[in-house]
Amino acid sequence: MVEWMLLVRYSEIALKGRASRRRMERLLVENIRDALASNGVKGKRVWARDARVWVCCFRDEVEAFRVAEHVARVMGVVSVSPVVEQVFHDLNHLVELGREFFKERVKGKVFAVRAHRVGEHDFTSKDVEKLLGEALLKEGARGVNLENPEYEAFVEIRWGQVYFYDKIVRGPGGLPVGSEGVVLSLFSGGIDSPVASWMMLKRGCIVHLLFFNIGGKPHLEGALRVAKVLADKWMYGYKPKLYVIDVRPIVQLISDRVPEHYRIIVLRRAMMRLAEKLALRIGAEALVTGESLGQVASQTLRNLRVIDDATSILVLRPLIGFDKQEIVNKAIEIGTYEESKKLQEYCALGVSKPTTRAKLDEARKFEEESGILDLIDKLVELAEEIDLRSTKLSSQTMHRRNQLLHACEAKPS
Ligand code: ATP
Ligand code: MG
Repeated sequence: MVEWMLLVRYSEIALKGRASRRRMERLLVENIRDALASNGVKGKRVWARDARVWVCCFRDEVEAFRVAEHVARVMGVVSVSPVVEQVFHDLNHLVELGREFFKERVKGKVFAVRAHRVGEHDFTSKDVEKLLGEALLKEGARGVNLENPEYEAFVEIRWGQVYFYDKIVRGPGGLPVGSEGVVLSLFSGGIDSPVASWMMLKRGCIVHLLFFNIGGKPHLEGALRVAKVLADKWMYGYKPKLYVIDVRPIVQLISDRVPEHYRIIVLRRAMMRLAEKLALRIGAEALVTGESLGQVASQTLRNLRVIDDATSILVLRPLIGFDKQEIVNKAIEIGTYEESKKLQEYCALGVSKPTTRAKLDEARKFEEESGILDLIDKLVELAEEIDLRSTKLSSQTMHRRNQLLHACEAKPS
C-alpha cells in the first residue's frame, strides 16, 4: 500500500543567507504544525529537508488533499502537492512505478509528463518525460500535448526517491509569520483593513488587531466575525489578539465641539494616538491601516499627512496604491469579503462634506479645543483584549445580520 505525504514548496526563504534560511525554515515548520493543530489535524510529522517541507503520512489522497488546503494558507508557502514517495533503482524501474501510479489517471486524456530532477543520475528529466509518456500512451491515454494538456503528470526525482503527483494547491508565498516584527493593525472589519492585515502577515509580521468601537455590542460582534476569519484561516504560529477600545466618549466630544468638516480628521488623529500608545504597551513596532490614496476624503495625500502628524510611530499602509476593485478581489480571495460586506456604513459623526485639504494648524487647534487629548491614556488603559484563537462566536453572533455601525464618509470630490 502506498503512503501519501505533502510536498511543500517555498521560494523567498531560499534566497536568504544560510543562517536566516535555517531560522525561517524552522518557523515555517512550526507554523505549519500550528495550522494542522488549529484545524484539528493530529498525528502528522512535519520536517524541512532539501529546500522543501514535508508532511507525513496520510491514509489516502483525499485526506492528503484536505490537509494540503490548510497548509496552503501558511504564509511563506508557495504551493503544496499531495505526493506518493517511492524508492527506485534505475530509470526502467522509475518508469514502471510511474506507469502504475498514473495509468488510471491518464486514461482517455490528452496529457503531458513534467519531470524535475535533483541529484546525480545517469538519465535526464527529458528521458523520464519521454519514456513515461510512451508508457502511458500504451495505457489508453488519448494523446500528448505539452502546451495545453488536459492532465499533467508530475514527477519529482530527488536522488534515490521519486515523487508522483498531479495536484498543485497554490499558497500565498511571502515569509513565515514571526520572521519580521510585531505590528498592530487598525482593524475596522470593513473591506480594506482585513486585507491590509493579511498583507502584513504575508510579509512575515505577527499581526495583532485593534478595533475602535463606535457602535457598542453589535459593532464589536461584526468586527469580531471578520477577525475570526482572519485568525482561523491565516494567523498561524502565534496567539492573535483583538484589542478593543471604546471610543464613544471621543466621538461624542468631537460631535459636540469640532466643526463638521474637520471631524473625521480629528477622529483619525485620535485613533492614531490611541493605537501608538497601545503599540508601545504590547511591543508592536509599527501601525498598519487599510488606507488607499484618494479612496475617501480622509485619504487624500494632504489629509494623510495631517493624520500622520499625530504620532511618531512608523505607519504602514500596504493598500496605498490599490484601487477598490483590487482590494475587493483580494478580500474575496482571502475569505473576509462576505463578513465584511455585512458591516453597514453608519455616519457616527454626522459629516456630509469632510475637508479633503485639511490644514495642520487648524486640525491641531480643533483637536486641542475638543478636550479629547485628556482621554487618550485612560481609554488605552481600558482596552479590552480578546484571544482570537480561543474565542468562539456565539450563535447569536453567527446568525444575526446585525445593522453594524461604521464611521462613514463621502468620497473626495
Ligand atoms: P475599512 O474598509 O478598512 O474600514 P475604509 O476605506 O472604510 O477602510 P476608513 O473608514 O476611512 O476607510 O478608515 C481608514 C482606516 O482606518 C481603516 O482601513 C482602518 O485601518 C482604520 N479604521 C477606521 N475605522 C476603524 C475602527 N472602527 N477601528 C479600527 N480601525 C479603524
Ligand atoms: Mg471603514
